[in-house]
Amino acid sequence: MSDSKLTHSINNMNVTAFPYAYFLDQITPIEKANVSIMTNALQYGTGWFAGVRGYMQEDETLGIFRLDDHVERFMQSSKVLGVKLDHNSQKIKDAIIALTKKNKPTTDVYYRPFAYAHLTNLTPSLAENHTFTFSLYMIPLGDYIPTDRGNKVCVSSWTRIDDTMIPPRAKVAGGYINSALAKQEAVNKGYDEAIFLNVRGRVCEGSSMNIFLVRDGVLITPAVNEGILEGITRRSIITIARELGITVEERAVERTELYVADEVFFSGTGAQVAWVQEVDNRVVGKNKIGPITQKLQKIFFDVVRGKNKKYAHWISVVK
Ligand code: PMP
Repeated sequence: MSDSKLTHSINNMNVTAFPYAYFLDQITPIEKANVSIMTNALQYGTGWFAGVRGYMQEDETLGIFRLDDHVERFMQSSKVLGVKLDHNSQKIKDAIIALTKKNKPTTDVYYRPFAYAHLTNLTPSLAENHTFTFSLYMIPLGDYIPTDRGNKVCVSSWTRIDDTMIPPRAKVAGGYINSALAKQEAVNKGYDEAIFLNVRGRVCEGSSMNIFLVRDGVLITPAVNEGILEGITRRSIITIARELGITVEERAVERTELYVADEVFFSGTGAQVAWVQEVDNRVVGKNKIGPITQKLQKIFFDVVRGKNKKYAHWISVVK
């Protein structure tokens, strides 16, 4: 198999996966971690996933950001879909730690835990008697979208999937066609990212990140009943902001509030904390990173690198 099959293209750069993956209950060379073309998940997107980051700490160990919370949300996806998984939470965490030790990363990493319908039924299947299969691989990862410059974004012509369709609260594989359509449209038009409106026409989230705005010193983000993925970075930002004494509102946000906001930024495992400079060609605030975004971004990066002891409980160090 050529190496190109083991790479992801991220920001037009090819990133090669770490040599070992976790597949069918064991650590295995990644080129051997393959499925049949008849696999139900490949045909219909019957699977769900997580995205978790590990950051190099000051002492050159790797610290995994909010591992327990990511695994908990991963298990919630199985509940939403009403299917069983062949691994429990502890076994998933053990696999993540074991794979880290095997791959011995010396850079920041991104983990992709994945649960999928391995059966070859012709029907798209969430059958109760079928157990989904857990797999995992790792790639080295820096920025997914720029964090050191402003992002230019547009409101998408695509509407975010709703809880009554493909519940965005679960990270359902097939649901990411919705994200891909929005992201590709934005990129084709020359923007960095897209912002989805939900079925009620309210601001929802980016293609794979949550969104925040600041108005008059108040931090605002769409509420969990607005069709968003309940982001773990979003939750972390809310906690940090409240502990700084910033008022946080989780509520419906209208499109034009983005145009009059003082600051707009994205949060997410991939996105981290990324500043938005323009929405639909309208400059946000003072055309530079805003003070609240800057403060939260700095604290976030200190936290994930283990430099902020107050949030040390969010980091699982791999020894
Ligand atoms: N929304 C969507 C649709 C996502 O895919 C992600 C990335 N997981 C997020 C929001 C951000 O969530 P988190 O902070 O948990 O990565």
